[in-house]
Amino acid sequence: MTAAQLAVDYNPSMPRISVLSCFVFGLAFPALSQAPSDLKQSVNAQLPALIETYKDFHRNPELSHHEEHTSAKLAADLRKLGYTVTEHVGVYEDGDKKTPAWGIVAILENGPGPRLLIRSDMDALPVEEKTGVDYASHVMSVNAEGQPSPVMHACGHDIHMTVLLGTAKELVEHKSQWRGTVMLVGQPSEETIDGARAMLADHLYERFGKPDFVVAEHDDPNHATGDISVKGGPLLASSTSIDVVMRGVGTHGSKPEAGKDPILMAAEFVMLAQTIVSRQVDPQQPAVLTVGTIHGGLKRNIISDQVTMGLTLRTYSDKVRDQIIAAVRKTAEGVAVAYGISADRMPVVTVSKTEITPATINDVVFAERVRKSAVAALGSEHVKAAEPVMGSEDVGQFSLNGTIPTVMFRLGASDPQKLADSQTTGKPLPGLHSGLFAPVYEPTLRTGVISMTAVAMDVLK
Ligand SMILES: [Zn+2]
Ligand SMILES: [Zn+2]
Repeated sequence: MTAAQLAVDYNPSMPRISVLSCFVFGLAFPALSQAPSDLKQSVNAQLPALIETYKDFHRNPELSHHEEHTSAKLAADLRKLGYTVTEHVGVYEDGDKKTPAWGIVAILENGPGPRLLIRSDMDALPVEEKTGVDYASHVMSVNAEGQPSPVMHACGHDIHMTVLLGTAKELVEHKSQWRGTVMLVGQPSEETIDGARAMLADHLYERFGKPDFVVAEHDDPNHATGDISVKGGPLLASSTSIDVVMRGVGTHGSKPEAGKDPILMAAEFVMLAQTIVSRQVDPQQPAVLTVGTIHGGLKRNIISDQVTMGLTLRTYSDKVRDQIIAAVRKTAEGVAVAYGISADRMPVVTVSKTEITPATINDVVFAERVRKSAVAALGSEHVKAAEPVMGSEDVGQFSLNGTIPTVMFRLGASDPQKLADSQTTGKPLPGLHSGLFAPVYEPTLRTGVISMTAVAMDVLK
């Protein structure tokens, strides 16, 4: 991403804190402290147990909205460490329909001081694991469409939960060296980007206290294991799910003149939709529009009467987001008109009210503080600058529109040699959401726990 692309048109509704108020906050920050000298030894001592925990999470993944056993294990392990744990935190709201969520909150109070929220997500993906590792997942479940589906921790949320547990233990063991309250959040349904909203809708902050800071990490195959990256400002794009239903007129496959073929209309729409970003959006504004699903037809010799498409839209600017949604509607309708579809059978374009999240903007001052803590704990050669990407996350929701300083840092997960080879050959390593994604777990977990603990202990000094 170029510097020009970073000059994005932010909307006030994005989860960020104003730079001015950051600096006011920044004045109150005490001098940075070094990570405790015994932190590395202490993390190394718990690493064998953490690896077993990681493999257990990895073998037993659960899809978004179904994190029943995962959340119970996380809750039980945190309780064993002495945290006060509440389960079943969260409620999905879809109109009048309310469904409980599997969120957990674990509190450790240690005198007066700041309140720090550390968040891990818990859900896995409908992906078939092809890594061939001996702790691979063979789990089958039922996906959101009711179809049988393999399940895999292909986004590394098993790494995040294990880092959370490792950090929880370090904070207990180093309790004499910090003051304040630690609030650990096991968040469900990050992959459907409705888990953070569900926990907030269940009065997370009214029940458990509003944090002064929020921190989270995400593993990253584009960084070498042993490294982290962090930077203030834009980190992750907004995400908007859109459904487009092209409606035609069904008929016999041999008599196209008697009907209106929605499969052909959908094909036209898919091609035209790709011109929205390339021909209509300001090139300085990052945007991605992807048609991820397309379903239509039942039999070779039948022209069906509708095709359903699922789209994901990523932008940093709400203005651009609204522009593209309007263009999607216009394009779908334009295709329908060109095919002679009657006014009462125009395409139906629905923007999801639940699978939607604003862009994630790291708080500038807090990000610098996180960076300095990580440098003290890992060494400056292991702390890189995070580049913004078009992926999305709902961690920013915990910032309450940027009013709580929030930072997500990236945790390197790839073998450094393989990463260097991939950069030389141009052949990418398996990325997040790939069935081949296998983080180098031992150094990744070690680095994750050391850096997260160092950040927490600095915030809580
Ligand atoms: Zn993911
Ligand atoms: Zn993820």
